[in-house]
Amino acid sequence: VSDRASRLLQALSAEPQGRGAELMLVTSLVNVRYLTGFTGSNGAVLVGPDRRVFLTDFRYVEQSAAEVDPSFERHIAGRDVFEDVAGLMPPGEVRLGFEDRDLTVHQHATLREKLPATVELAAAGAAVEAQRAVKEPGEIERIRAACELADAALREILDGGLAGRTEAEVALALEDAMRHRGASAASFDTIVAAGPHGALPHASPRDVRISPGQLVVIDWGAVLDGYCSDCTRTFASGEPDEPARAIYELVLDAQLAGLEQLRPGVACRDADGAARRVIERGGHAEQFGHSLGHGVGLEVHEKPTLSGRSEDVLEVGNVVSCEPGVYVPGELGVRIEDLCVITPSGREVLTHLPKELVVVG
Ligand code: ZN
Ligand code: ZN
Repeated sequence: VSDRASRLLQALSAEPQGRGAELMLVTSLVNVRYLTGFTGSNGAVLVGPDRRVFLTDFRYVEQSAAEVDPSFERHIAGRDVFEDVAGLMPPGEVRLGFEDRDLTVHQHATLREKLPATVELAAAGAAVEAQRAVKEPGEIERIRAACELADAALREILDGGLAGRTEAEVALALEDAMRHRGASAASFDTIVAAGPHGALPHASPRDVRISPGQLVVIDWGAVLDGYCSDCTRTFASGEPDEPARAIYELVLDAQLAGLEQLRPGVACRDADGAARRVIERGGHAEQFGHSLGHGVGLEVHEKPTLSGRSEDVLEVGNVVSCEPGVYVPGELGVRIEDLCVITPSGREVLTHLPKELVVVG
């Protein structure tokens, strides 16, 4: 963990991400965790060439002593830790980078009010997020373990069948199975969406029974040791009709075409385009409204972004999802999602459930 702060300082000195800032105030809790190991709910980090300070309040004295990397000085502040940042500034002119996607307008005003006029505040964008996009081997192992746990939990709940259970029951059983296997939480609200409800990409599970012969979209993930998994499979609750099967096969072709593109040096928008073309050729272009995928790590949606507008280019160590879908309003939805890590020779898929259409009793 300790050299993550050094890498952040190097990135800061480079335009445009760091805006040339000499010091960086990190306030996003997930970024604070990434840099220090701290998992509490109030903390900030100040990183400079000669000083690394972790700030929290009195509730976290013991937890921070146990968790925070020893390369940081620990500073116990009031609840509003920003109030103490001014006292930690070096003398003279300095540019202090801050996370403009995280700091509220109110916090920025408090900070500005307390800081001496010699300190210039510089919006430093997503410098830590950019660093987090490239995973270290230990992070990849954690994500791999989260994927294995989530795969096993899904297999377990499928043994109970789908038809006749409500979407909400299946979602709860799945989240329960993940917790029993050691997950601290689900990565996001589990999606179980049958038949026409599956046409909503972000459907909430309902108290509605799954009928035989419907397509059922299940999108789920586990958080294990802080790291998320993310996977989607579409099952059939009994033999589906021919048009439903054809859409399933089309989405699978698109998913495989997308996966094929995932390797170092490929522009994320080209990977998105490869999958999208398959769906366009199948006549369903209008029914694939979201992007192909996203990075996954400490957060379930992080860098890079696999969309038609993305400027990101894949690098070794990125962990990304590949998840095309077709959503036919009033009829059905199909989405197939794998999580993979980009390797020097291409990609390694971390989610291992079968992808041919599985008919569940
Ligand atoms: Zn997902
Ligand atoms: Zn996803």
